[in-house]
Amino acid sequence: MSFKFLCDATVLKLAKWLRFLGQDTESTHFHEPDALLKIADAENRVILTRNTEFNRLPYKNVYVLESDFLFEQLKDVIKHFNIREPRILTRCSKCNAPLLDIPHENVRGKVPYFTYKNFNEFKFCPVCNKIYWRGSHIDLMIKRLKKEGIWELLF
Ligand SMILES: [Zn+2]
Repeated sequence: MSFKFLCDATVLKLAKWLRFLGQDTESTHFHEPDALLKIADAENRVILTRNTEFNRLPYKNVYVLESDFLFEQLKDVIKHFNIREPRILTRCSKCNAPLLDIPHENVRGKVPYFTYKNFNEFKFCPVCNKIYWRGSHIDLMIKRLKKEGIWELLF
């Protein structure tokens, strides 16, 4: 079973990492429970938040994170929602849109020449047009997840 998430203003950084793993994760600068509930209900999302006010409200579809630390939060979400099999480069880290393939010749002039020459597979975000490829920045993010003991939780 897979979940869709909504990160509120208290856990915005978490959204980027969940998207990196391929999880459908919207984010919002709202933090008022009513505003969040409206979005979550409309899109069938689970709210992720640090806002303990939610603990006193009779809402389901809310998961209140206990840690203030990003990677502890990520670990918590992965375990709680049983997230497995990272799907790297499937979702825009900025806007959550699913990434699409873009032919190699079409990225010429849009990425550094070195990148154009050394990589064959590219993706792009149809919303913000950001181009993605499996470069060293991706390896660094995976390395960080390994260091935090998160990567192995995913398999
Ligand atoms: Zn985008």
